[in-house]
Amino acid sequence: MKKFLSIILTLIISIAVIPAYAFANAQNSQSQWNNYLGVPTNGVLDDEYVEILKQRYKNADPIARRVFDRFAPQLKIQNTNYPFPPFSQRFNEPYRPRGVYYNAAYDKTNPSGSGQAFYHELGHGVDAAATGNGGPGSKVLSNTTRLSTAMYKDALRIVNAFKNLNFIKKYYFIYGLYDKSAYIVSDLLGAMTGNKLTGQAYHPNEYWYNNDGRIDHDTLNMETFANFFEASMGNPKSLSLVKNFFPSAFEAFSKMLKSLLPDRNCTFFKKDPSKAEDKDKAFSDFIKAFTDKGPEL
Ligand SMILES: [Zn+2]
Repeated sequence: MKKFLSIILTLIISIAVIPAYAFANAQNSQSQWNNYLGVPTNGVLDDEYVEILKQRYKNADPIARRVFDRFAPQLKIQNTNYPFPPFSQRFNEPYRPRGVYYNAAYDKTNPSGSGQAFYHELGHGVDAAATGNGGPGSKVLSNTTRLSTAMYKDALRIVNAFKNLNFIKKYYFIYGLYDKSAYIVSDLLGAMTGNKLTGQAYHPNEYWYNNDGRIDHDTLNMETFANFFEASMGNPKSLSLVKNFFPSAFEAFSKMLKSLLPDRNCTFFKKDPSKAEDKDKAFSDFIKAFTDKGPEL
């Protein structure tokens, strides 16, 4: 009987305990938390890449940098080897905890500038952390018609100016959108025009538009915020283009950013007067220039 018991015990140890121990160890070796620029990061970044990130941090707009510092400890990078396009998960989901999933090796030689994905995705993180990292259905800071209304105003000005250009100047304008530093302008103008006016960098229409053929405001606002934040974090060439093309939207963004300084209390969000019923009202001027999926150019 004793022998039987010891066999059973051995079996239990080998079937349950040993694999459990091995599994826990494997988990540990995969999960190596580090800290880069104050952001808890699950993974290791190579030294050269970290130097680039630090250089961008040094060259950042001082207000954006202080906001970054304020929120860095609340942000998270969950995966630095993610094999698919980068994204920022706003709230914890089973098997997908809150944080950034991206490929650091790709970002090192990113055609939109080294470190673009790092600061863009963390920009989404700041946007969500500013309103307390709420769960599904909660608002992020950028979720306001103040930003989208300003965006429509800027885009309308560009579209009208473009319409009045002669053929050669239209060609040069679009050629300019293909420049490496114009990827934010290209992406956002693409969003506003159903990709009729865009350079190399763009998201497909399905990304920006709802089934009714209208721009999804939340997506537009969130991407505007993350794009502007990234440009402010040490990408001066993109930043000056953004300021020139989207002066009203950039002003709204700057006010948001200031409301996130360490001595403020995210007041921009708290004082936001926009209501759900205002959502489509912001469209009205801009939509006049539009057909179903973009303006007549
Ligand atoms: Zn984004």
